[in-house]
Amino acid sequence: MNDPRHIATSIVGAVDWQSEVSGFCRCPGEALHTQPTGKKDCRVSVDGAPTIHCFHASCAAAVAASNLRLRQALAVGSWEIALPGGKVLRSGDVLQASGEVLPRAAIQAQARAEGHDAGEAVTLATVKMLAERFKPEMFERFRWPFAQIIADSPLQVHQRDAEDQFRTWLKLWPAHCHVWIGDVFSSGKEEHRTHFRPVADWYQIGPVMGNFTCGSSFKPGSFQRSNANCNGTRFLVIESDTLTKDEVGAVFAYLQRRMHYQLHCIIDTAGKSLHAWFDAPRNKVLENRLKAGLTAFGCDPKMFTYSQPVRVPGAWRDGKMQRLIWVLADGHQ
Ligand SMILES: [Zn+2]
Repeated sequence: MNDPRHIATSIVGAVDWQSEVSGFCRCPGEALHTQPTGKKDCRVSVDGAPTIHCFHASCAAAVAASNLRLRQALAVGSWEIALPGGKVLRSGDVLQASGEVLPRAAIQAQARAEGHDAGEAVTLATVKMLAERFKPEMFERFRWPFAQIIADSPLQVHQRDAEDQFRTWLKLWPAHCHVWIGDVFSSGKEEHRTHFRPVADWYQIGPVMGNFTCGSSFKPGSFQRSNANCNGTRFLVIESDTLTKDEVGAVFAYLQRRMHYQLHCIIDTAGKSLHAWFDAPRNKVLENRLKAGLTAFGCDPKMFTYSQPVRVPGAWRDGKMQRLIWVLADGHQ
């Protein structure tokens, strides 16, 4: 039986093991990095779906090629590692942060019982485990505190008045979109139709119909904010109930700079949190993987409900304005 760590070492070179199954290594595409390389930028894990992950984006092709070699090498035969305390980790199992072993067979059995793809379930468990493992380095490397977000905004908007805030945000939407603005309960009855309007109407009305909007546009004539009524343009609005305004920026920066999701704006909710508006993932598979990773980072899984209400800029909350602090300069469409 081969030790998977020896196989990993034969592919990535020396590994600074941080646990029985995961450690820092030299990035296989280090020569392609366009930013300085740190000692903790690249990590190899042999459990779950074995993975080499690097924080740099420029090395992606080289990392993908090495990942393929790693997985092929580890797919030959099965292995076991004895863990402290007498537990045994077998090939494909995931070692969780708690020290518990999540057996591959259990992940797959649960997926089948729920009607999901068993292979994809192992990938999702791996994404979550990897995100938990590289979280400390992610928050350090992509640190983007509140004041820096404001300073970095392509368009300086945070001091503009409420009407201007609102109209600047409206430019995110293509002209034909029907957008909902209201309070959380301004939905579900005929009388709420007035809260679902084309963008041009909102330009005239201004930020006076409520404190909330939604990252999705709706079918014309809608009066209920439901996923079934969502139509066309859709943003993924990312927020966290647990991360501070100085911490959550790292997640936004990671998504924008490393994962290349288009960032459209960041809104200060006038409460404890910031909301970042990104393009929605291209398909359900990517969406589920992103959800697994973001949840491990401390973000809120309910943001993947596309009819979820979120704060609209230009409205007032307890005497403070909900405002844009970062926005793209040139309109958005
Ligand atoms: Zn790299």
